[in-house]
Amino acid sequence: MLRIQIKLLNLDMIKKAEGILKKIFGYNSFRPLQKEVIQNILSKKDTLVIMPTGGGKSLTYQIPGLIFDGITIVVSPLISLMKDQVEQLKELGVNSLFLNSSLSKLDYEYNVEQIRKSEVQLLYVAPETLLLERTIELLEKLNVDCITIDEAHCISEWGHDFRPVYREIASLKPKFPKAIFVALTATATPQVQNDIANNLQLKTSNRFIASFNRDNLFLQVVEKTFPLKQTLNFLDKHKNQSGIIYCFSRNQVDELYEELNERGFSVKPYHAGLSDKDRMQNQEKFIKDDISIIVATVAFGMGINKPNVRFVIHYDLPKNIESYYQEIGRAGRDGLQADCLLLFGYGDIRKINYFIDQKEGREKLVAKQHLDKLVRYAETYSFRTNPLLTYFGEDYSEENCGICDNCTRENKDLVDITIEPQKFMSCVKRTGEFFGAMHIVDVLLGSKNQKVLDKRHDELSTYGIGKEHPRDVWLSISQQLIVRNYLSKDLDYGSLKIKEAGYAVLKGEEKVSGKLEVKTKFEKKSITSVNYDKKLFGILRTARKNIADKNGLPPYAIFPDKTLIEMAAFYPQSEKDMLNTHGVGEAKFNKYGAKFILFISNYCKKFNIQIASPVLSTKPKEKVVGAKKLRHEIIGNDLNSGKSVDEIIKEYSIKIDTFIEHLLKYNNSVAPINPEGLFKYLNCNKQTQQEVLKQFEKLGDEFLRPVFEVMDDKVTYLELKILRLSYLYQKSKVI
Ligand code: ADP
Ligand code: MG
Repeated sequence: MLRIQIKLLNLDMIKKAEGILKKIFGYNSFRPLQKEVIQNILSKKDTLVIMPTGGGKSLTYQIPGLIFDGITIVVSPLISLMKDQVEQLKELGVNSLFLNSSLSKLDYEYNVEQIRKSEVQLLYVAPETLLLERTIELLEKLNVDCITIDEAHCISEWGHDFRPVYREIASLKPKFPKAIFVALTATATPQVQNDIANNLQLKTSNRFIASFNRDNLFLQVVEKTFPLKQTLNFLDKHKNQSGIIYCFSRNQVDELYEELNERGFSVKPYHAGLSDKDRMQNQEKFIKDDISIIVATVAFGMGINKPNVRFVIHYDLPKNIESYYQEIGRAGRDGLQADCLLLFGYGDIRKINYFIDQKEGREKLVAKQHLDKLVRYAETYSFRTNPLLTYFGEDYSEENCGICDNCTRENKDLVDITIEPQKFMSCVKRTGEFFGAMHIVDVLLGSKNQKVLDKRHDELSTYGIGKEHPRDVWLSISQQLIVRNYLSKDLDYGSLKIKEAGYAVLKGEEKVSGKLEVKTKFEKKSITSVNYDKKLFGILRTARKNIADKNGLPPYAIFPDKTLIEMAAFYPQSEKDMLNTHGVGEAKFNKYGAKFILFISNYCKKFNIQIASPVLSTKPKEKVVGAKKLRHEIIGNDLNSGKSVDEIIKEYSIKIDTFIEHLLKYNNSVAPINPEGLFKYLNCNKQTQQEVLKQFEKLGDEFLRPVFEVMDDKVTYLELKILRLSYLYQKSKVI
């Protein structure tokens, strides 16, 4: 009996949680494991949550915090993180405050008073502040339901940000017997997880581990040849997007920053050599979308919650897989697609090895192993997600991740390529097994570069025997040979040596299958599958930036990008449609709804965009009734049988737009329509009309927006609709 009651209670709670997700946060569904975690917390059990960056950990304690009668305390390691979270919660209309050393005495006292009066639902504190005698006294008098420890890896000495004070939080357990403890981290290593669980005495059954697969991150590794050029090419495909470029050293940061700045990129540097003020300013500019790109050392990132980082470039090799995963993890927190590019160079390995050599004993050994794993990852010829996940102990069963350079390569099927490996390896042999892939390829291609001439490799029989393939094909062959154990590579210098299996190939005893095609099929897709109006998006983005600046907030605290994308795709103009838009909860609607509706409706008026039915409505669309279905047939027949446009419009008292919609339907389902009678509505000249027809040919006639965009304001939507009919009519005659 009691069990059933508890179950019912839980169901009720979950309903409440779902209600809050929609009403306060404006989201439609939970992300993986969020619901389970919330359920566990709501049943007042200690909980350990392991979820990758961007997985949505905050919601899992914030929603219970809003349901509990008492207060939820959140321990957070950084002032910037606390500020960011509290700002966002306040925007959502949640009573939330923080206590830390950054507050003035007056503000601190004010906050304490609010807490004393139980006016606060979520309280963010620095661990040092929480452990103060006076804080404990204050909180002991209140009804504390939950003590949450965010970034809980700080508890563990094995973690990357160990903070001894974090270990003391556990000592509060007896002081708050009614409170549960919730620990959250994105650190995937089991050692750290166990450390946290032991320190806080958490039961294994209350551990929730989400998959570390971030399927919105496109992972790409390319051999570092001309890094600046490679970076510029990449940036060219990511115009106006936010991104981080990681460099190994401060010097490298400064150098690359100069290069990009000179070329007019919106960019700032970040490293420990800059003054605190400069660093803070540059970070703030990045967060607030005042600049697009930050060039940084690994000092940058912790405490950045910016959800719309669209790319991360590793200009130099990261330290190990864990840091790499963490650094790329800063991209695409909002769940939209983001691109990660690693420029992989053997010179970098030498640099890292140099630093590792300064270490001693076990530390040195571990660092070497870490580096080795990273190199294997970079060189893998199978899909990239797998080595990353297996490193973290996750069993990834999919055959193909579908979202890395290797998976999206064209021509996935292996073919017999024995001749190329034979050419490549005989060149390795003739050059004495002293050289790396770049030099071997130079020789194969018959290069006249200095190194080739100095070593007199232009006199070898293998000189110039590989001209039938471009450089990247040969580099890819060398990679395939290494991965399949035909060649070995010196970790320090990248020089290649032939292994036993390689000799078998050279002697013709073994065949090699592989790929000669290296072109990636992956075309830069839109960051989302929704087709949206880029122009309106730009307008809304500017509006958001203005509001954010006025309130001293980062733009994403007003609305995430995804919200603007949905607005620009579905043109919501009513309260209902707005509230159905991603990220628009009640508080946000009350604050900004009217403003954004105005922008959208003005835009729609200006470009004559008519939304027939609320696209976003969760209600099923009204069924088309029989009479309506017939109407386009009657209208189309009328026109084709010689009635004038004006006559028809008058007779059925419909707008010109509706009239054209009927004609399109008629064209698609009955017969071609001769649209000549409509040409008087065209204000654009003949040449523009011809251009539009050409664009329909090129871009297809299903959607008007692509054509509208390329025509760059030269035509209205109404004109496009008429010209589309004309295009379809002409096409029908050709066939
Ligand atoms: P983490 O702390 O795990 O790195 P966050 O809690 O900061 O991740 O969440 C990352 C982003 O995802 C935030 O912008 C958050 O609002 C958004 N988010 C979280 N849960 C959902 C959800 N269920 N639906 C849509 N967006 C979500
Ligand atoms: Mg977080």
